[in-house]
Amino acid sequence: MKLTESTWPSTADAVLGTVFGYDRFRGFQREVIEHVVAGGDALVLMPTGGGKSLTYQIPALLREGVGVVISPLIALMQDQVAALSEVGVRAAFLNSTLTAAQAARTEQALRSGELDLVYIAPERLMGERTLRLLGECKLALFAIDEAHCVSQWGHDFRPEYGQLSLLRERFAQVPRIALTATADVPTREEIRERLLADARVFVASFDRPNIRYRIVEKREPREQLLRFIRDEHPGEAGIVYCLARNTVDEVAAFLNEHGIQALPYHAGMDSALRAEHQRRFLRAGEDGGNAIVMVATIAFGMGIDKPDVRFVAHLDMPKSVEGYFQETGRGGRDGEPSDAWMTYGLADVVQQRRLIELGEADAQYKRLSSSKLDAMLGLAEAGDCRRVRLLAYFGEASEPCAQHQNACDNCLSPPALWDATEPARKLLSCIYRCTQSSNFGFAATHIIDVLRGKSTEKTVKFGHEALSTFGIGADLGEAEWRLVLRQLVAQHIVEVDYDHFNVLRLTDAARAVLKGERRLEVRRPTEKPARGKRERSSRRGSAAVALGSADEALFERLRAWRAGVAKEHGVPPYVVFHDATLRTIATAQPGSLEALRGISGVGERKLENYGAAILRLIAEA
Ligand code: ADP
Ligand code: ZN
Repeated sequence: MKLTESTWPSTADAVLGTVFGYDRFRGFQREVIEHVVAGGDALVLMPTGGGKSLTYQIPALLREGVGVVISPLIALMQDQVAALSEVGVRAAFLNSTLTAAQAARTEQALRSGELDLVYIAPERLMGERTLRLLGECKLALFAIDEAHCVSQWGHDFRPEYGQLSLLRERFAQVPRIALTATADVPTREEIRERLLADARVFVASFDRPNIRYRIVEKREPREQLLRFIRDEHPGEAGIVYCLARNTVDEVAAFLNEHGIQALPYHAGMDSALRAEHQRRFLRAGEDGGNAIVMVATIAFGMGIDKPDVRFVAHLDMPKSVEGYFQETGRGGRDGEPSDAWMTYGLADVVQQRRLIELGEADAQYKRLSSSKLDAMLGLAEAGDCRRVRLLAYFGEASEPCAQHQNACDNCLSPPALWDATEPARKLLSCIYRCTQSSNFGFAATHIIDVLRGKSTEKTVKFGHEALSTFGIGADLGEAEWRLVLRQLVAQHIVEVDYDHFNVLRLTDAARAVLKGERRLEVRRPTEKPARGKRERSSRRGSAAVALGSADEALFERLRAWRAGVAKEHGVPPYVVFHDATLRTIATAQPGSLEALRGISGVGERKLENYGAAILRLIAEA
């Protein structure tokens, strides 16, 4: 069937099958679509990779007029439009990357009703010129993507988003659908309040069953990262997040020196170079070459819809669970296994607390940031299921993931919990004694030296070898002491004074511990056996469809063919077909167009454009 005006499908199911090539809706996709088609407002909360796009694309196709998609991600609009064009949807974008002539052409197409979807950057949309243009068009809906950007308390706040409330007044009759993967309740409320009217809220489960969460002790983070990539993800695409720009540069250089192709990305770089790195990351690895590891600050990644990111590593802890969930969520959008791996240590706690305390924000914001950080620390320190904790943060109850194929580290090998109450008391009294005897404070290193009875220039100078706490902690190593201290700082029992050389001070909460009224449990660091290569490949094979060697050869040929098509069309290969679709083709080896049509990801337009070429490749194999 060739898609023309007259054969264009008119129901949600028909669009799903004929245009997008999928056989069934996921979760509540159909409900959202029906609600919006009927003219209702909707708030859609779904994790990354959950399938949000279809919930506004299909209503835009079914309703009269053009669907206006507001997205802050200029760099990605082009790929989104390309992907829609591939399936035969008439889409275009308006943003600052267009020349005046190109923009005029799109505006003309809009006026004459030739577009199904138009992507517009928020600052462009709010210009009077664009608003007037939209006033002249028949509008199917407004879709506000990454809607959490409207939240002033959130981590991605964008002032332009604040003005979007104007749409409600100016285009009251046009349904609005706001979408986000950030789901905490305050953000949800803020989106509703600012952008929507009587919106129906659709909340999907935020579980990402294909992601394995692991948080390891930070020792030598770069070496740990290198080992992790070499052992578990050689040649695969991944993202490494660091807090500081210079760490990003250093880590990228370090990986390259050790034979792993890596690119840096942070806001301090020239924007053209940044865009170039993003482009290379999105397109690498598909034509048989190695994938690229992107080393980045959190400036990178929002809206990145590269499906085959196999790991997201954090060398520094994010400042909130929302941030962690969103960043790790960029892995495994294709549904195949992906690792969320983080190194975590005392320095992370100190650093994040410091950022909050020394920040410019007002007291209310600092309190909020501090409680968000505490939730993140709770997740990092947890001895029980990470997934349960993560989902609980978003208000979702769940069972430990021990039986999952991608169980979290704690479920996979439960950590030994150590009753560290006695060591904690020793540490607290040591801080107390040192501070009292010298009348000023000391930082962690010195306190631990005193505990362990290590004679240094300082212990001599300050007469601390005469203290009753000198040497009372010789039974534990420095790493263990840092672990106890980290827990004390995480629980606000000890404070770090950032204005004064990071010296340690006791808080009021210390008294209960010293008096033996409060216990302290710490997870014992166990060096987790890295998953061996064998296990890794079996994991990989179990994803989607396992390929035999003949199928594997066909799969590779299909990929090579796809790389050629992608190059010719100037789009990333996954816009042509996802790996999962090619893999299914390689296994099923359909012998006719009819059989090919039945494969998930093959819609009418792709069948028409590529069907013959694919059948030829199969016949040759
Ligand atoms: P997000 O929620 O992150 O915006 P997307 O809309 O990009 O997610 O969808 C993620 C992937 O899932 C895409 O490749 C999309 O084509 C695919 N997808 C979405 N809905 C379905 C479905 N009903 N059946 C099969 N694949 C789907
Ligand atoms: Zn678990």
